[in-house]
Parts: sequence; C-alpha cells; structure tokens
Amino acid sequence: MKRVIILRYGEIHLKGRNRGFFERILFENLKNALKNKECEISRIAGRYKISDYAKDEEQNIIAICQNVFGFVSLSPAYEVETDIENIKQVCQIAVEEFNINKNQEPITFKVATTRADKSFPIRSDEFSAQLGELVLNLCPNFKVKLKEPDVLIEVEIRENGKSYVFLENYPCQGGMPVGTSGTGLLMLSGGIDSPVAGYMMAKRGLKINAIHFHSYPYTSLKAKEKVLKLAEKLSAFAGPINVFLVPFTNIQEEIHKNCEDSFMINIMRRIMFRIAEKICDIHKFQTIITGENLGQVASQTIESLTNTNSVMEVIPIMRPLIAYDKIEIISIAKKIGTFETSILPYEDCCTVFLPENPVIKPSIEKSIQQENYLNIDDLINQALQNIEVIKINKK
Ligand code: ATP
Ligand code: MG
Repeated sequence: MKRVIILRYGEIHLKGRNRGFFERILFENLKNALKNKECEISRIAGRYKISDYAKDEEQNIIAICQNVFGFVSLSPAYEVETDIENIKQVCQIAVEEFNINKNQEPITFKVATTRADKSFPIRSDEFSAQLGELVLNLCPNFKVKLKEPDVLIEVEIRENGKSYVFLENYPCQGGMPVGTSGTGLLMLSGGIDSPVAGYMMAKRGLKINAIHFHSYPYTSLKAKEKVLKLAEKLSAFAGPINVFLVPFTNIQEEIHKNCEDSFMINIMRRIMFRIAEKICDIHKFQTIITGENLGQVASQTIESLTNTNSVMEVIPIMRPLIAYDKIEIISIAKKIGTFETSILPYEDCCTVFLPENPVIKPSIEKSIQQENYLNIDDLINQALQNIEVIKINKK
C-alpha cells in the first residue's frame, strides 16, 4: 500500500495529435513546481502521479500542484496491487482516516468503482455494494446516498495491475500548461491590475516575462522590491519569470521639460511601449500584455488606447482585463494572493510628474508633434543599455 497524489488534466484531452507536446510541457512544469520537494513524479494513462513523499508534506505538495496550470483536479489516494482483499483493506483505512479527520459528524456516502481491468472477477456495481457494506459496518455515522452524497469513495481498478482508492477531490486552476502558447512580456507596474493580467495570460499557456519602468530616485527602492515580490507571487502560477527593470527617470524628466503637461502620460506610455517592443524583438517574445481596462483612467479611453497602439510595429498588445470591473479584478487579485502586495503604498513611476489634466482623447498627430521636441531614439537606446534583468522563481 502506498500513499500517492493523482492529478487530472482538462483541456489537453481536446488536443488530438498535439497532445504529447502539451503533456510533456505539463510534466516539466510540474517537476519545476516541485523542485524543492522530495518526491517521485510519473505518468499513468492520461494522468500524473506523485509518490514517495513524506506524509507531512502531502498538504504542501497539494497546495503547489493546485497552482500548476493545466490540471483540473487532484486526489490524494491509496495505491495497492489489484486484489480483492487488498482493496477492501485499503478502503477501510482510507475511510477510517477520513472519518477521524471529520470528527464523526453524520455523513452520506456512495462507493463508485470503475473497472478498466476486466480480468478483475467482480463487476463494478457489485463490488461497490460490497465495499459500501464494509463502510457501514465501520462507521455508524455514515449513510448511503446514491445521488449527491457528501463523500464519494472512488475505487479505480486500472489495467496496470494497480488499484486506487480516494475520497477527496481538490480543484486546481485549469487552463493550459505555461509555455504551450508562446512567450509574452508583461508590463508590470506595482498596481492591482497588471499582476492579474499576467496571471490570466499565463493561465492560457503563455510563458511570462515582465518589464517594469522605474523612476529611481523619485520612487524608492521599496517600489522596486514590491514589483519583484509581485513577480514572485505570479511565478507560483507562471513558473520562472525574467524581470526587465528599465530606468525611466531621464525620459520622464525630458518629457516634463519639453512637452505639454497634459501629454506627459501619453508620451510616457508611447515610449514605454516602444521600449517593450524593442525587448520583444531582441528576446523573441511574441506579445505584450498590460493590465489596461477600458475607461479606467485617461490613458485607457478608446482614443488613448488607439493612440498608444499606433507606435507598435508588429507585436500585438493583449489586454485581458479590458472589460472587467475593478471589483472583479480585485477579487482575482485576492484569490491569487497579489492584492496585499499591490496595495502597499510605494509610488509607481506613473505618479511622478502627474499632470492635473491629462489629455483624454489624444490625437496621434498631436502626440507626434510633441515627440518632435524629444530625441526619442537616443532616449530609448540609453534606457535599453541600462536595463537590469532579474530572474524570479518561486522557492
Ligand atoms: P495597475 O493597477 O496595473 O498599475 P493602473 O490602473 O494603475 O494599472 P496605469 O497606471 O494606467 O493603470 O497602467 C496601465 C498599465 O500599464 C498597467 O496595468 C501596466 O500593464 C502598465 N504599466 C503602468 N505603469 C507601469 C510601469 N511602471 N512599468 C511597467 N508597466 C506599467
Ligand atoms: Mg499603475
């Protein structure tokens, strides 16, 4: 008898001939997520199995696996060599353990057996009934209920000569394995929105890198630490993340000195996107992701978004939060654990030199005219030469 964790994946089943590619990447991601845990990871007929771990690590391992995109659910289970008496015995142990954990409250249950191994001599329904009787004898507080029971005791008799018994089903994140949908560059500020945007794209299988523009010394080193902390939280889901830290102070000072106040943010954002696209070119990233959200602030009106889009040469911008209400974004931020860090009070570069009346509908011609007062190419090259790259990987 062995304690194991069985992991099930979702959408990958739809992938036909590409399935092997998705399964391989999912396997690598799982291995990376569990790199600091002593355990064995293997594949069994359309699922993954974790075994040979210390019992007191089980809940920690479960919590880590729940965040690996691609899995839909998991179950801690007992594995035995297929044999009637073995299965009965382990079923007994599993139920007793569960019952102790649940303090003897009245509980309804059902046993469901699936028999992939047709050489097993008892039919599924009959075996479920036998096991049900065993459970009733063991636990006086259990009552059979075939529809929507509190506890479903599942018994799987597999073709590989092994059987599995489990009572619990933990939900996972779903989504696609990170790295199966290409690579992107997340514009990561210290706010609430951008980490959520990164989470959502990683959930669809995009490998994430991050770029952050900082205005040190106008903004403190704490602001930089905050962004790295957010990247670390994100990496619990997205895997390792390279963070590109771009010095933006000089650019902001130049804009402030030479351009109309109301265009300050508009020109800043146009330059941010140009720098982000250059980094995509250099590193072969395929898309830029932002936490922008229609109508949230002056730089996120349809006219402002069209205006900043116009500086892009090839790379598409993805804005997964474009249609979300702030309240919905906050609820995801809380769920993924970035909210508490995002609301720390350190300033973002966008709040330095903030104009009182930012332009709400910037015309592209006017932006270009304002940019003529700057030496844009030099400013961008200078910033690119002074980038710091930090690799983040959740411990
Ligand atoms: P957030 O909560 O993500 O900071 P926001 O509501 O503050 O968003 P803006 O400040 O207008 O909105 O920024 C919109 C988007 O631009 C952010 O979601 C982020 O993707 C990007 N962004 C803003 N500031 C920075 C920065 N300093 N570095 C990198 N990206 C940034
Ligand atoms: Mg912001």
